Parts: sequence; C-alpha cells; structure tokens
Amino acid sequence: MAAEIELQPRTRVVESNGALYLRLLDKFAKIEPADDFSRRLVRSLFSGGSLADVLSRAAPTPVESACLAIIDALIAEGFVTERPTTLGSLKSDFDRFERELAYLAAWETGANTRYQMLERVRSAKIGVFGLGGIGNWVVAGLVAMGFRKFCLVDPDIVEIHNLNRAILFSPADVGTKKVEAASAFIRRMDATSEISCNDILIDGSDACRRASSGCDLVISQIDKPLENIQHWVTRGCLEAGVPLLLVSSLSVGPFMISRNCGCVGCYQASQMDRLSIAGRIEYVDPSYPRPESSICYRASITAGVACREVMAFISRGLDLTTRDRVWRMHEQTMEAELVPFSKRADCSTCTIFSKQESSDVRYAPG
Ligand SMILES: [Zn+2]
Repeated sequence: MAAEIELQPRTRVVESNGALYLRLLDKFAKIEPADDFSRRLVRSLFSGGSLADVLSRAAPTPVESACLAIIDALIAEGFVTERPTTLGSLKSDFDRFERELAYLAAWETGANTRYQMLERVRSAKIGVFGLGGIGNWVVAGLVAMGFRKFCLVDPDIVEIHNLNRAILFSPADVGTKKVEAASAFIRRMDATSEISCNDILIDGSDACRRASSGCDLVISQIDKPLENIQHWVTRGCLEAGVPLLLVSSLSVGPFMISRNCGCVGCYQASQMDRLSIAGRIEYVDPSYPRPESSICYRASITAGVACREVMAFISRGLDLTTRDRVWRMHEQTMEAELVPFSKRADCSTCTIFSKQESSDVRYAPG
C-alpha cells in the first residue's frame, strides 16, 4: 500500500436509510451502518495520511479490521487513492494549496493528477509583460495560485496615479521600478519564488523575443504603442517558440499555443471584415490622443479570466477557451462573449512563421 492515502476530494457523502452513500462522478459506494465509527472513518479518509494515521483517527483497535476492509473496498472502487508524500521539494505545499488541490481534482484524469497539475504550476516560468493595472492583478492571481517563477518586464516606475488599480504597489513604492516593487510583493507571498526583472521597453519583436527567452508562457498586457505592440509581441514569441496570451482591458485572447493558432493579426483582420474595412490598422493618428482611463475592476475582472486561461494551459486540466477565440466583456451590460476567428493565410503578423512548422503540437516544454 502507498505511504499515504486519501479519499478523493470530489467525493460526496450522504446518509440515507441508515447507511453512508459515497458518490464520485458516476460511481457509488455504500458503508453501513451509518454510525459514529463509519462517519469518523470517512472524515479521517478525507484528511488523508498514512494508513496508521487514518486508522488511529477513525477507530479504536478492536474494529481496526473492519476499517481495513472498508478502506480496501474503497481503494478497489477508486474512491481512495494514493497521495504523494512530498510535492516537489516542498512538503508545506500540501497545506498551502489544500483547497486548490480539491479544485483541481475536478479536472484530473488518471494520466494527469491534481498533484501533477500543481507541480507544473510550481515549476512553470511565466513571463509577465506589462505591470499596469491588469498586470498587477495577473501577478497577484498567479502567485496566489502557486506560480513561483516569473520573468517580469516593464520599463516604468510606480507613479501615484497607478494606485487606483494596483494591488502589488503601495504609496511607499512610488518612484521605484515597477518590476522591483512587483518582485518584492511576490517574495513576500512566496519565499521560494524565482524572479528575473527586466526593465526594458518592448520596442519591437526583437526585444520581445529576447525577453521571452526561457519562459514557458508569456502573458502580455502592454498597451503602447497601441497600433503595434500586440503584433511585435506576437512575432517575438513566435520567433522564440514561446506560447503567448494577449490581454487588454475586458479582452482576453487570442492564446497562441502553437504556430497553427490564429494570432492577433488574424483576429483584427476578421473584425475588419465584419466592419467592412480593408486591411489592418497600421497607424493611429496621434492628433487623436486616446485619453487614458482606468479603474480597478476592469483590471481585476480581465486578470481573473486571464489567470484562468494560464491555469488551464499550464495544468493541462481545464480546456483552453481563448485559442482562436477572444473573450470580451461589455462593461455596461456585463455580458461576455467569445468571438471566434480563424487563422488567415494573408495575415502579415503570423504567416511567415506558419510555413516553418506544420504540426499542431504545443511547444511548451515540460
Ligand atoms: Zn495571424
């Protein structure tokens, strides 16, 4: 028997007609009678641990054999499974992520357990490009979910007007580099974190390619210069072979997990078709300055959706929603929509890369 065992967190328990019924998806198990002993045993199995621990919490010695018979039956039915005794090198991860593991249990399969999902989260290196409002909530969400390896990219310093939508920064950080203030936040949240700070300006695809090197995923919410930045980041990540999730206010996607996915150029072209405008916008006349407005909930709603997609991609548990689709929310009605689009042969942003790789295998390592 494994060193540690536990009852699957998804198991639902009901009492009926003097028996305990356990349900896990389409499987049922029955323990009878429903008495103090059987209730203690089920509670003990939910807590998990070594067999000796489970037994000591569940039963006085005289009924140990009854316990073992029930546990053996629950193992045979798949209700009770092995639990790894360590999670990476960090035993404390069990306690810290107890509820996240219970959440991930809903998405696990025999080939991809919740522990393997969490291991991927703990070992993936995420490039976070842009530490404005959305980037703040993205970083906070990712570190809360257990991500601990980051490459932070932003050239700016913290200014007082950033605080209306910041969660990483405090008034004491005003005047310091955003990457350093964000790094300090992450280290406070997770002493095991590994962070590289890059205060460069992404001013073309080359800068993006260099900055994304070594990342398992880049999530970018840089919004300047408006007409070019998403295309530069897309090209840079395609050159580097790094998956990319593009995010802007109340808009998440497209998620490019391989060179066969539609890119932001493909998406914008599809929108131009809808609006009957030929070509893509190459240039925005600076005589029409775009007023910079922002508020916290636009950033935090957007970042929440983006974090869900990052978890889906890295854990390989949930389905990705924003591949060849863009999630958008209308602020006035709070209605969300997924806008589908297709990869286009005439896309000036991604077409040259498509010819280099025909397989659809995602290129994230690990
Ligand atoms: Zn494209």
